[in-house]
Amino acid sequence: MPGTVSVWVDGRSASGGDGDLAAGVETIHVNDERSRTVSVYDLAVQRGDGIFEATSVWRGIPLSLESHLRRLQHSARILDLPAFRLDVIREGVAAAIDRYTELFTPADDEEQMLKILISRGSDPQLAGGRELDPGIPHVWILVDHRDPDARDPQPQRLITLPKGVSAEAPRENPWMLWGAKTLSYAMNKAVYRECGRRDADTAIFTSTEGLMLECPTSSVVFRVGDRFFTPEPTLGILWGTTQREFFAFVRAQGFTCEYGRYPIEKLGEADAIWTMSSSVAHPVVAYEGVEIASDPDLAAEANLFARDHHEKIAAESLAELDRFQF
Ligand code: PLP
Repeated sequence: MPGTVSVWVDGRSASGGDGDLAAGVETIHVNDERSRTVSVYDLAVQRGDGIFEATSVWRGIPLSLESHLRRLQHSARILDLPAFRLDVIREGVAAAIDRYTELFTPADDEEQMLKILISRGSDPQLAGGRELDPGIPHVWILVDHRDPDARDPQPQRLITLPKGVSAEAPRENPWMLWGAKTLSYAMNKAVYRECGRRDADTAIFTSTEGLMLECPTSSVVFRVGDRFFTPEPTLGILWGTTQREFFAFVRAQGFTCEYGRYPIEKLGEADAIWTMSSSVAHPVVAYEGVEIASDPDLAAEANLFARDHHEKIAAESLAELDRFQF
């Protein structure tokens, strides 16, 4: 029976810059009590104050790990968290995957979900938090079984929801954590409940100017003719690793890919639309309650390509980060 492996990474070592690891401290703890529990005094619990990353693990390989680590570091910078030692996080990831393989010997076609979760640490405003080393981030890594069909494209019924923010807000108010992958996903989850009430699977947010942004937990790509488009990261959205993998795949087929600021009406002109996250693309089959032409095959091919050519795809996806000085 597949299960979860959890790892606790010593926060002092993980956030110690490039210097030596915290002296005399064992850094990686696999499946121990701390790896499974969070204190009620933790700022992740008290305020949702922290960051995370998630990706798929395929045959022991965490897909696009370096892109995820770059984004983790980017999120840490935005939240004024310390710079993390990525070598330590990598070690924790490897330990989690190794133990998972040892315990559950997954078949080649089984995939897992990898999560790296970091909280700001204990809450110094609470007496209980003050006793628990406030100021030291808490770092967990999880590897969990995924349903066998998790990497298969799932048809998506998409609606639009206004986010109530301007596309200029990221430039005007950069302190608002634009583009960071934070632990505060309560609003993102509320979107899915609203989608349920509207007979949809997911929603794309729009800015007050009517520009398309992203879905609560995925990026959007659309095709018009031979060109593929996605909203640009300067709109304050999370820059998706899967979207970059998808672009690398379609470029390899000879198509052109573009980033930009697109009015939501442009989705109505699209030949096909996809949503995507964690190295899995899904076809949009209905938009605003109306069935549309979709391309599930391209999603399935892209998902396979991201696995069969993971090194090439990961390298291209990483190289693309320089386009927007990420
Ligand atoms: N946008 C948001 C808000 C997300 O939460 C996610 C993933 O969780 C994405 C986009 C897609 O990111 P990725 O492709 O790196 O999983």
